[in-house]
Amino acid sequence: DTRVARIAAAITVFPGFPKPGISFHDVTGIFHKPEVFRDAIGLFVERYKGKGVTLVAGIEARGFFFAPTIALELGAKFVPLRKPRKLPGEVISEEYSLEYGTDRIEMHVGAVEPNDRAIIVDDLIATGGTLSAAKRAGAEVVECACVIELQELKGREKLGKIPVFVLVETN
Ligand code: IMP
Repeated sequence: DTRVARIAAAITVFPGFPKPGISFHDVTGIFHKPEVFRDAIGLFVERYKGKGVTLVAGIEARGFFFAPTIALELGAKFVPLRKPRKLPGEVISEEYSLEYGTDRIEMHVGAVEPNDRAIIVDDLIATGGTLSAAKRAGAEVVECACVIELQELKGREKLGKIPVFVLVETN
């Protein structure tokens, strides 16, 4: 698909960011070209249209770049999965491990209804820790959807039976 090549070309890798030894894959270039943004949204929407998806969860912060637009196109609700202490009111909180220490993501209680069929959207899957915390938050998760997969980190394995759909695979 020529769209995938255009998306891959719009991603910039920054070696040594945010710290030495890490290479940061930056998706913001996708949004500098509306036609490339449309390509990315189109690939996700084509995948999920007609599949009964009722909820699109986006992970803070870069999942928010994609998830609401996908939700709108699918006629599904958008639910933000946020960093700790950002959401007011009652939340479901899921912890996950990072290279050093742990982090949490939170979702409003009541955002997921019993029959919801969800996809979880983020910009990138590395170790899979973030997405696996997200999937525990309560809906039936049909699939996780990311723009980029860092394949070497084998994040898919952490998600067990839940499939992961990615647009661009890299190492
Ligand atoms: P994981 O939990 O190890 O799978 O890491 C994925 C999370 O870290 C996602 O929320 C990403 O936004 C973020 N992340 C890790 N590496 C990168 C990167 O190279 N570029 C952008 N985001 C990254």
